[in-house]
Amino acid sequence: MNQLQQLIASFPLIEDLISLKETLWFNPKLSAYQTGIELAPLSRADVIDAEDRLNRFASYIANVYPETKEAGGIIESPLVTIPKMKQKLEKDYSQPIFGELLLKCDSHLPISGSIKARGGIYEVLKHAEQLAIEKGLLTTDDDYSILANEKFRTFFSNYSIAVGSTGNLGLSIGIMSAKLGFQVTVHMSRDAKQWKKDLLRSKNVKVVEYEADFSKAVEEGRRQAEKDPTCHFVDDENSTDLFLGYAVAASRLKKQLDGLNITVDEEHPLFVYLPCGVGGGPGGVAFGLKLAFGDHVHCFFAEPTHSPAMMLGMMTELHDEISVQDIGLDNQTAADGLAVGRPSGFVGKVMEPFLSGCFTVRDERMYNLLKDLADTEEILLEPSALAGMTGPTKLFQEGKSYLENYNLTGKMENATHIVWATGGSMVPEDVMASYYAEGKKLDQ
Ligand SMILES: *Cc1c(COP(=O)(O)O)cnc(C)c1O
Repeated sequence: MNQLQQLIASFPLIEDLISLKETLWFNPKLSAYQTGIELAPLSRADVIDAEDRLNRFASYIANVYPETKEAGGIIESPLVTIPKMKQKLEKDYSQPIFGELLLKCDSHLPISGSIKARGGIYEVLKHAEQLAIEKGLLTTDDDYSILANEKFRTFFSNYSIAVGSTGNLGLSIGIMSAKLGFQVTVHMSRDAKQWKKDLLRSKNVKVVEYEADFSKAVEEGRRQAEKDPTCHFVDDENSTDLFLGYAVAASRLKKQLDGLNITVDEEHPLFVYLPCGVGGGPGGVAFGLKLAFGDHVHCFFAEPTHSPAMMLGMMTELHDEISVQDIGLDNQTAADGLAVGRPSGFVGKVMEPFLSGCFTVRDERMYNLLKDLADTEEILLEPSALAGMTGPTKLFQEGKSYLENYNLTGKMENATHIVWATGGSMVPEDVMASYYAEGKKLDQ
């Protein structure tokens, strides 16, 4: 038997991945929260530290991004119910969704219009703070709105920031770094959309394009950044700062749920469905959710059938030592934010005791759901952001034993399902119209 045949013998689900079948995998290593948190290399204190840092920056953010003024410079997104979409899903899949269905609209986060406005912006701010404090220009007691002064922009222009991206991380890092005054280079994979490159160039961001996928863009970016001691490389595959920036979402979500009078406890379970690329975004959010809700939250990652990197890495426990190309997949997907062939090793290992499972979704279905959400709720998302939308349906259709094992079967009427909508508000109108048209084709 060759290596691949051996893997398939141990993990028969890989055969479904190879045949591009939509697949649902439950994590056999899911543990009690208390066990998991003791294994984690990061703690609640780390997430609180990140939240405090974002609070320190709030006056600066409100100053330079007036659209965040009303929220006091806190970059946050709405949490909304989507009852008409729920009806549509129940009808189309002939499957009731017990409990409430909500959408977390990171698609509408200010500044960069995707989940990357959490981790990406956080890492740039943290780096800026560290430089300014080291040089004695800033203390944590200052009002950070002073960072908008020309003096700071001149200071930061002596430093550079680089990142490798399929698009959205590049947008976040590029926009925020350029605003502070840094020189910034974004290494874009072939999946990156033209409008994202154009937008960045209009903001004086240097964009380097590759004919290869995400892993290659990151590798090249890392290599070039290493040569320059004044360059900070934002490492999407390994960064704990990105991860912590994402994790802050959970305590804010908790407040939003309180505001909607939604309880999460033993009798009221919470299910969250997160689109996954390299893993930092969904991993960070899920880690924060576990800190906030412990065993009462159940987190699932969603990936395209052509790029099930995290499912493959976690299932085989090979993490970043295996890629979807190793099982013959092409990593070609319309869900550009999820076009990642090799997962973050760091995130997969952290998630081992916390993640409930992963599932895959065909590109055609993401387009079709994009159209359905636009028709029913008038919310426009990019294809990647729809990956989680079939999660509740799949859970009820294929997750009976999971619900039984965790004593959830009788509680589902009280459940809350949150589909994490990770991007879309910055997509130009003509590009969105073509997505919608693509989704409509599939109705016939
Ligand atoms: C980046 C991204 C994700 C996934 O985040 P990762 O950190 O790569 O796992 C999901 N959706 C969209 C729209 C994204 O841009």
